[in-house]
Amino acid sequence: MPERRPRLLKRLALILLTLVIVAAAALYVLYFRRTPLPAAAPHARVVPAISTIPGIAACWVETGKTFSRFSFGSTAGSVLVRDPAGDLLIDTGNSSHFDDEIRGFPFGTWLKLKSLAGELKPESPLPQLLRQIGEDPAKLRWAILSHVHLDHSGGLMDLPPLPVLLTREELQFANDPSVQARGYVIAAHVQKFPSVAAPTLQFNPVPYETFDESADLYKDGSVVVVPLRGHTPGSVGIFVNLSPERRMFYVGDAVDDERGFEERVGKSMILLDSDNAGKVADQIVGRLNDLHEKVPGLAIIPAHGRSAYKKFFPGGPQSCVSNQYTR
Ligand SMILES: [Zn+2]
Repeated sequence: MPERRPRLLKRLALILLTLVIVAAAALYVLYFRRTPLPAAAPHARVVPAISTIPGIAACWVETGKTFSRFSFGSTAGSVLVRDPAGDLLIDTGNSSHFDDEIRGFPFGTWLKLKSLAGELKPESPLPQLLRQIGEDPAKLRWAILSHVHLDHSGGLMDLPPLPVLLTREELQFANDPSVQARGYVIAAHVQKFPSVAAPTLQFNPVPYETFDESADLYKDGSVVVVPLRGHTPGSVGIFVNLSPERRMFYVGDAVDDERGFEERVGKSMILLDSDNAGKVADQIVGRLNDLHEKVPGLAIIPAHGRSAYKKFFPGGPQSCVSNQYTR
């Protein structure tokens, strides 16, 4: 029977091809396909006056990454703002004890955390990376979290104690047992936060860009925080103004990556579940798209959007940009 073997091989090849096609289709549906969202309602822009403050710099501190060779690669970690009035850490990435922190969750929750945030586990602990760029972690003035999810707050477990800026609504969310049960917020991280009774971040009714409220951290317009409620109830975005021309807007997980605000698309299906209030989160995507069109020179940086970091920090991870920087 000389024909049997080629037939078997043919069948195997067909099965393999089918598997590859199914896997590619699943990846497309789960990750690459995004829902186009309606445009935001028209909103006035309040153009801020920005002065160039000597000595300010922003540094990209990357603790974890995936698919870094591809344009869709993602990142996690911190943006360090060096300021003569005291340095600020924006987000902190995952804890170096990530695997221990998620161990006790039910299998489904564990698997989700392990395969999503777990892919962005720190390769080196945050304090070590900070020291590499000449920053003493013990001298940080404060940290601000775009929101309290584990892949943004975990680095606090590796750092010396420091004040963490959070709004009352985000602290309430973080302390909610049902939220912690879903795995996105880790009880041990919440111990590093201020108490619900003593929030450390409050907005003033001062319009800024296309937002109605804002908080000017250094009272000099260099770092301005605005609410981005939706992904979590107290999610925030952080403007860092190095000079009138060199500005970034760190938007946490309000969008997955640059496609979010460029094409006005919502979250990937695989990440939809992480939005606490989907409809409100979708409105924020519209608002960011509107801001991007009104202020094209502003570098909008999604927390995990590696390609956006690479544009703002041409020196790559562990590099800084300042207002003195010229290419
Ligand atoms: Zn995240």
